[in-house]
Amino acid sequence: MTTHALTVNAGSSSLKFALFALDGLSCRATGLVDRIGGDATLELSDDTGAVLAQRDLGGRGADHAEALRAAIDAVREAFADAEVAVVGHRIVHGGTDHDRPVRLDDDVIAGLKALEPFAPLHQPHNLAGVDGARAAFPEAVQVACFDTAFHRRHPFVNDVFGLPREYYEKGVRRYGFHGLSYEFIASELARTAPDLHAGRVAVAHLGNGASMCGIVGGRSVASTMGFTALDGLPMGTRCGQLDPGVVLYLLEVEGLDAAAISDMLYRRSGLLGLSGISNDMRALEASEDPRADEAIAYFTFRIRRELGGLAAAMEGLDAVVFTGGIGENSDRIRREVCAPMGWLGIDLDEGANAAHDRVVSVGDAAVTVMVIPTNEERVIARAAADAIKGGG
Ligand code: ADP
Repeated sequence: MTTHALTVNAGSSSLKFALFALDGLSCRATGLVDRIGGDATLELSDDTGAVLAQRDLGGRGADHAEALRAAIDAVREAFADAEVAVVGHRIVHGGTDHDRPVRLDDDVIAGLKALEPFAPLHQPHNLAGVDGARAAFPEAVQVACFDTAFHRRHPFVNDVFGLPREYYEKGVRRYGFHGLSYEFIASELARTAPDLHAGRVAVAHLGNGASMCGIVGGRSVASTMGFTALDGLPMGTRCGQLDPGVVLYLLEVEGLDAAAISDMLYRRSGLLGLSGISNDMRALEASEDPRADEAIAYFTFRIRRELGGLAAAMEGLDAVVFTGGIGENSDRIRREVCAPMGWLGIDLDEGANAAHDRVVSVGDAAVTVMVIPTNEERVIARAAADAIKGGG
């Protein structure tokens, strides 16, 4: 038997998982259970992307526990030699206490459940994944890795809102999210570009969810996301930065209730809401409808505004890193973000950008612009391996 780490990323209707051999931390498989609660499907692929298993779960996959059992069955069938010694979980919220991964026991889990009101759309699903993994692997160590942890040591001015102080004490703070992705990018910079890692880097994680982070010397100092994952950039279906007066107007004048406003801000806004066409950047780029162009223009404008803001927060800028599905794949978005930013020292190399090279700025540019594919699963697997080594 070879000992392995399983990573689990349980979202509202999907479960992403990956299997890593602890020896050398090589990724052996990645998988996805999609449409949990509906017509759930499962796919398992090896490290090269070759499909190992693909199945319709039919009645199975009705809930997260079933989805996880199906995922584990598929892994066990494909890797009969794999003993899972540790399970690493992506948990969206670690509150004010957790600034690093932690071993899960009943007390820690109770503390994380108490944070559910801070992230009602994500935290319960993440914790359902923990319950399922504890039942499936009672002997394995369970480790939580938080999306908030990388940002937890922000300076006060980037941790606070201008509200009465009591709300700060109650935990109404700027937590920031996508921390596992930013931690991966910081580790890649440390490995491949130590000079930039030591400097001031703005990272744009542009996927369905999108945010930006200012990293100085490998540590997060500012995030565009705040108390929830709604703030900052417009996203596939989320609004991004919004005057809180709009929420009051929707409540008091339009007569919407909290549930309707939540549905609008999380599921019907952003690229989808503005374009009326799609939340998917590929569909918008392919569309000839002027509303698609306007939605893209708003997206790239907000990225540029936040980039200027992060440069101010970091007191300068040495590098910009694009990551996430859009950041890694869309040369158009990178161009539309970078072209008007020459004043900040950004000078894109059109050929390198079109070729999706790792460095896409011209050789003598003051700011290095890079494209680095993110890998949140690897960050979770590293934390899981460390927890076993160090007692965690
Ligand atoms: P998630 O936040 O769900 O992990 P991803 O990081 O996978 O999302 O990013 C999904 C987004 O990336 C979608 O908007 C998709 O259209 C976009 N995307 C993927 N490939 C391309 C591409 N070649 N060009 C433009 N956008 C792309």
